[in-house]
Amino acid sequence: MINQILKKARAGEELSAEEIAALLSISDEVEQQALFDCAYAVKAEQVGKVAYFRGLIECSNICTKDCLYCGIRRGNRNVDRFQMTEEEIFREAMWAYEAEYGSCVIQSGERQDEGFVSMIERVLRRIAEASSGEMGVTLSLGEQTEETYRRWREAGAHRYLLRIETSNPQLYAKIHPADHSYEMRRECLRRLRRTGYQVGTGVMIGLPGQTMEDLARDVLFLKEIDIDMVGMGPYIPHADTPMGQEIGVYTREQELAALNLGLRMIAVTRLVMRDINIASATALQALEPTGRELGLQCGANVIMPNVTQTEYRPKYQLYNNKPCLDENSSMCRDCLSSRIKSIGETIGFNVRGDSLHYKKRTQES
Ligand code: SAH
Ligand code: SF4
Repeated sequence: MINQILKKARAGEELSAEEIAALLSISDEVEQQALFDCAYAVKAEQVGKVAYFRGLIECSNICTKDCLYCGIRRGNRNVDRFQMTEEEIFREAMWAYEAEYGSCVIQSGERQDEGFVSMIERVLRRIAEASSGEMGVTLSLGEQTEETYRRWREAGAHRYLLRIETSNPQLYAKIHPADHSYEMRRECLRRLRRTGYQVGTGVMIGLPGQTMEDLARDVLFLKEIDIDMVGMGPYIPHADTPMGQEIGVYTREQELAALNLGLRMIAVTRLVMRDINIASATALQALEPTGRELGLQCGANVIMPNVTQTEYRPKYQLYNNKPCLDENSSMCRDCLSSRIKSIGETIGFNVRGDSLHYKKRTQES
């Protein structure tokens, strides 16, 4: 049965929720490899064997939200809060530009105050000016007003990542405090689309209470809202969070199960949305040192090497075991580049690597 579903997928036929759930439920190693190979063939054909880099700048761990899974949630008193200056963020973006990454991602906890919004706006203008508009900039700064999204877009940001976390509203309600709204998330994704971004979203995989059917519907949700990019990864418990305390630290067996399910989600997403950009999440690397390269071999085509100054990294712990804490940015670049070459892929240096799907849909309209 798995082979038949893969044949259909390879030919570009639509998969039903049941078929997607069947692929996600694979437990046999040979079948799993067949799924990965099929997704890799679709990736190679549609977007090529090229990995694009986005230098990840984690610019602040100050957050007004209290998501029950996240290590830097407002309620975690054990976090030493930091906020990079405008100059620091700009310098790290330039480091990524000079390292030929072509794009950077600016990520932080969520803040909607004018001081923060205008600081980001100024950084964006400086990056655009210093790179003559060449540097691709992705933002991942949470929920904002349409006006804020527009200001940042006009200042030079092209892409935005805002995960829906789960497309099941009941599950969403379980992993967030009562004042965090699923509907607002959906609305923010619409705002991003209206303001002209390449829009990226994704989910956490392996949440407590999440079923294969939930994940299958997540994949179909991404297709339904016609997403340009996907960034998703395994949920990993953080000891200082309500959810992490309930679940406890993963055993090695649980880590491997989470890794494999994460990889199957990437593969299935590539089969369903063939020409989008898919990021190989850092959380995969937290479960297995070569996790991100495995992601590339299952259909992902984007990697986000951390370029945050080493001193800030231990303070930006969304989950336990975050990798590369003590490596500096150039070490990350070099070790990652050679590992990617070793799996037979090239790296898209000095190009933005925009989503092919976005290009097609904007040319059509
Ligand atoms: N504040 C912004 C960006 C930083 S959080 C936002 O929330 O969009 C970025 C992502 O980290 C979140 O979307 C969430 O999916 C992920 N994340 C947070 N805690 C996590 C955990 N314990 N395990 C895995 N991913 C986690
Ligand atoms: Fe804040 Fe994002 Fe963490 Fe939620 S997931 S607490 S918004 S940093």
